[in-house]
Amino acid sequence: MTRTSPNSFQQLEKLGEGTYATVFKGRNTKTGELVALKEIALDTEEGTPSTAIREISLMKELHHENILRLHDVIHSENRLMLVFEYMDKDLKRYMDTNGGQLEPSVIKSFANQLVCGIAFCHENRILHRDLKPQNLLVNHKGQLKLADFGLARAFGIPVNTFSNEVVTLWYRAPDVLLGSRSYSTSIDIWSIGCIIAEMSMGRALFPGSNNEDQLQKIFRVMGTPCETSWRGVSRLPEYRADFPLYVEQDLWGLMPSMEERGMELVRAMLRLQPEMRISAVDALNYSWFTNGELCGGEVRAIFARAMEGQRGW
Ligand code: ADP
Ligand code: MG
Repeated sequence: MTRTSPNSFQQLEKLGEGTYATVFKGRNTKTGELVALKEIALDTEEGTPSTAIREISLMKELHHENILRLHDVIHSENRLMLVFEYMDKDLKRYMDTNGGQLEPSVIKSFANQLVCGIAFCHENRILHRDLKPQNLLVNHKGQLKLADFGLARAFGIPVNTFSNEVVTLWYRAPDVLLGSRSYSTSIDIWSIGCIIAEMSMGRALFPGSNNEDQLQKIFRVMGTPCETSWRGVSRLPEYRADFPLYVEQDLWGLMPSMEERGMELVRAMLRLQPEMRISAVDALNYSWFTNGELCGGEVRAIFARAMEGQRGW
């Protein structure tokens, strides 16, 4: 563990609230560097969750430009303080301040950075398990980074957040909703498909209110699965033989402004059967990303303009 003390940071305003903690902006009193401070109260009765601390410390070794950097883990008796690099805002707030729908070039750049970050995690045998716009951070340079890692692994995903809000199901894969416990990298790919769709639609693709409603919303668009389309689906714990039967719709009708190659990738990510979903590495090599500009002049200009008018920041 580290020798940095919690006193090395001046606590500034609140940045946001999430599943496990409130996050504050902070300043390193020695260097002046801005950071994000995330304090997690530990259940003292259960003693120090050493597995949790080990998981979290592993995050310190994950160095990639699309993964939020964890600088320090300060462990005191009944709390953990995580010191992260500072970002301007999460993707949810960024979309809200930009009227929901993002421009095609920004969608493509964010999608690419999202896939790059998750490919790196998957290569290192790490699942994120809770990808959603609130857990993606962006800055004025147009960079996107995955945040909120490891805690899902260390503590499990609770039903309610610490401030008692319900944890969203909107980005949860159908196999997980159906009770499958064989979690694999494909659950993150489903979430990414939902997030890319949301950037184009300006609203969530599958905004379900509970497990059953979430499955319904997915089936209504993707079609109700059966043994012919997804072998083994009927053996999953939450599967019901009397699910309403829906036929598959054309996803493009829901997001007409999506680029054609982007649409193909979203389709490849949103396959009901987990084994059929594209892998992160294959997604990176998809023609949408390999043809043409990624984060070139156009995207940089958009962020520069946003900075000037302070629009979106
Ligand atoms: P939780 O594990 O409790 O969900 P998160 O790490 O997702 O916590 O943080 C909660 C919120 O705080 C995020 O959705 C975001 O709005 C804000 N936030 C978190 N980390 C940072 C950061 N490094 N820079 C700026 N804002 C952040
Ligand atoms: Mg979070």
